[in-house]
Amino acid sequence: MIRVTAVAPESLGSELGLKPGAELLTINGREIEDFLDWEFLSADDQFMLHVRQPDGEEIEFDIERPEGLPMGVAVEAARIRRCANRCDFCFVDGLPVGLRETLYIRDDDYRLSFKYGNFATLTNLKPRDVERILEYRLSPLYVSVHATDPVLRRWLLRNPLAPDIMEQLRLFASHGIVFHTQVVLSPGVNDGAVLERTLEDLYGFGASVLNVSAVPVGLTTFSKHHLVREATRGECRAAIGQLERWAERARKERGITWAFGADELYLRAGLPLPPAATYDGFEQVENGVGSVRWLEQRIAGDAGDLADWRGRRIAVFTGRSMAELMPQVLEPLRAVTHAEFELIPLGNPLFGDAVTCAGLLPGAAFQAALAGRNDLDLALIPGESLNEDRIFMDDLTLQALAAATPVEIRPSYHFTDALDTPLTR
Ligand code: SF4
Repeated sequence: MIRVTAVAPESLGSELGLKPGAELLTINGREIEDFLDWEFLSADDQFMLHVRQPDGEEIEFDIERPEGLPMGVAVEAARIRRCANRCDFCFVDGLPVGLRETLYIRDDDYRLSFKYGNFATLTNLKPRDVERILEYRLSPLYVSVHATDPVLRRWLLRNPLAPDIMEQLRLFASHGIVFHTQVVLSPGVNDGAVLERTLEDLYGFGASVLNVSAVPVGLTTFSKHHLVREATRGECRAAIGQLERWAERARKERGITWAFGADELYLRAGLPLPPAATYDGFEQVENGVGSVRWLEQRIAGDAGDLADWRGRRIAVFTGRSMAELMPQVLEPLRAVTHAEFELIPLGNPLFGDAVTCAGLLPGAAFQAALAGRNDLDLALIPGESLNEDRIFMDDLTLQALAAATPVEIRPSYHFTDALDTPLTR
């Protein structure tokens, strides 16, 4: 059973009289467990829907969907599947104590992999989950492979019961499911020869493995430094060399790049980023693969929609890792908006300065940096540093930050999303 959270006007749900709080019990006699059942089973043109309204009345609807009329029913979020692993590099272990509880949840959920592109290891699948993946044909899935050698993968995941990922991928691929895959590179463990075998095995899946990315392990002050370390510049370069050799082969044989290094890998290697045209449509941009090139493209594409910011001074906050690459993104932005940009890279007082990505910056860091900055007209903060309730990692709200600073603040994912409307104060 799942609950309705909202019903859109002029929808089938509204015509049926469904109300927020109503319980969706079955479709064609099949129990509705979560949003997946709801979305897939209610996609038919005809079905029987059994509901319990908030007043307790149970109704069975014999539904014949009028063409073009959406169901218009939003349902409660799924209870997140917990992870069965204990990777040494797990971000959750790197969190300081005292943050809000939800941040400590290790999620590993194939449903969110399909719906939102979250990477999942597939180590916690029950037979019923496998059946659902096949029945609903959940594709593409985003899979954290890390290593295809089953023994080494179990060691990396610290999970002796982790199934063989090759067998899992084979089964799903034989039913037409395709994958975006990633390898979190732990130096001395799954790089070098292990990475080579992983790339070779994944390449062997042909079109079923759409791509593979390698992301360097990222640690905080609180991570298990006695068990895992970050890659050296030389190790990052070696991994890029391997990825680029596979990319070259894939371009020749398949016309796609297929193997990618995350921007962070290039940064740590001290090597220039590949050109935008090599990113195959930026399919792993959310994973930090090609983010800078994607930003450059986005700015060029949105240039005509931006307001004129002539004479305005705009602060752009970022984490230290991207600071080096930001000037090449801000220069074209300056050319089209005529604004004066001040790039402000911030250290991370919450996680320690080893954490350099923008998405983990706490609200307090922005607040401290903006104190007394009456000379600014606008401050752009990374959208990724806020959750969907507009709260930073340290529980400061965006509203509280805005009230405490002398400058207008706008969260932004790609700059142009925050520069299309003029100032409000
Ligand atoms: S798979 Fe590993 S890194 Fe991901 S949540 Fe689980 S323990 Fe953490």
